[in-house]
Amino acid sequence: MARKTTKQRNEELAPDGKQLRHYGLKLRMEPNPIQEKQIHQTIGNARFTYNFYLSKKKEVYQLTGDTLTYGEFKKAFNRLKDHPYYSWLKASDKFALETAMEHVDDAFERFFSGQNKFPKFKRKHKSKQSYSTKETNGNIKLNIEKQTIQLPKLGEIKVRLSKNHRMMLKETGLKGAIKSATVTYHSSGQYDVSFKMEEVTHLKEPVDASKIPDESFIGLDLGLTHFYIDSNGKKVENPHYLKKSLHKLALLQRQLKNKSIGSHNYKKLQKKISKLHLHIANQRKDFLHIESRKVVDENQVIILEDLHVKGMIRNKKLARSIADAGWGLFKTFITYKASWANKTVVFVNRFFASSKLCNGCHTKNIMLSLSDREWICPSCGTKHDRDINASKNIKEEGMRILHSLPLSA
Ligand SMILES: [Zn+2]
Repeated sequence: MARKTTKQRNEELAPDGKQLRHYGLKLRMEPNPIQEKQIHQTIGNARFTYNFYLSKKKEVYQLTGDTLTYGEFKKAFNRLKDHPYYSWLKASDKFALETAMEHVDDAFERFFSGQNKFPKFKRKHKSKQSYSTKETNGNIKLNIEKQTIQLPKLGEIKVRLSKNHRMMLKETGLKGAIKSATVTYHSSGQYDVSFKMEEVTHLKEPVDASKIPDESFIGLDLGLTHFYIDSNGKKVENPHYLKKSLHKLALLQRQLKNKSIGSHNYKKLQKKISKLHLHIANQRKDFLHIESRKVVDENQVIILEDLHVKGMIRNKKLARSIADAGWGLFKTFITYKASWANKTVVFVNRFFASSKLCNGCHTKNIMLSLSDREWICPSCGTKHDRDINASKNIKEEGMRILHSLPLSA
């Protein structure tokens, strides 16, 4: 089965000056009890299909050295579904089962290209369980007015649209077409659906950096004292409600220690903690969406430090605050929002000494320590705010990089 890749389809669209754009839309679902049951059955059936195809592929390979193809397996699988013993497979969305098979093929492809380890079987007990299904002949729909979605075999399900979603959808409608949907159940009791959306857009015009005025460049220094500080001297704080939620989380975790493992109260508290984790993640995402939107709307070129977040998180003391600051996600949001708006993001190397360089005379102050929030340049006498100076340097370094590059799209 040959599915056209995005790259192939983009090559077909390019002569018309067009390209594909993908984005995700995630909504909270409120299924009724019958739908809940159906969702769990489909999750189970998709997992069964995945594991079954994987085990058959392994078996065929070990016995004959051949590859069991998707087409061959699907034929056999469909015959199996007709057998009374396996009739429960028919009760769930067939596209979900097909997608599970495709996921096995994808996992093997990634294995053979060296990206991943050998595919593993899916286990039942995980805090997050999901299945994916694909759009075929209008079987997946979103009704913004009614705040419902339609999914195969489930019918209409209530969804909760956030204020942001409602605003966006009212303004622009649903951009593009729904390609697939992933239904996720969290052990906290929450159901989500994520749509993969696809839109055909115009190819971007190449950016000529030399024509962009200096004031349209912005450098951001992501930090711990503030969420970020920009080269214009603007300081954005970490939100306080996030700190509050984290405090609450620490409290609950301490309470959990005093409960006997496996008891009713233990499980109840565990569920509460799981819920709070999700709440914090959502709070953080909302904050990052709003801040990244502002940065992208207000500037043409955004310059960021390519901080090695993963490496830094290993340092335990800083870990909490870094994880909470959500820098990695912030960069992802800025990058894709900029790409949609045909704006440019430049990353400067994390070993570039942004803090220690005087932005006035470009002398490196090797005596500067992490605790110096303000300092005076020993060479030229300029007084610096540590973070503002750093973000100015990041901006300059980004401009230097961009001006030395050929035109880029
Ligand atoms: Zn200086």
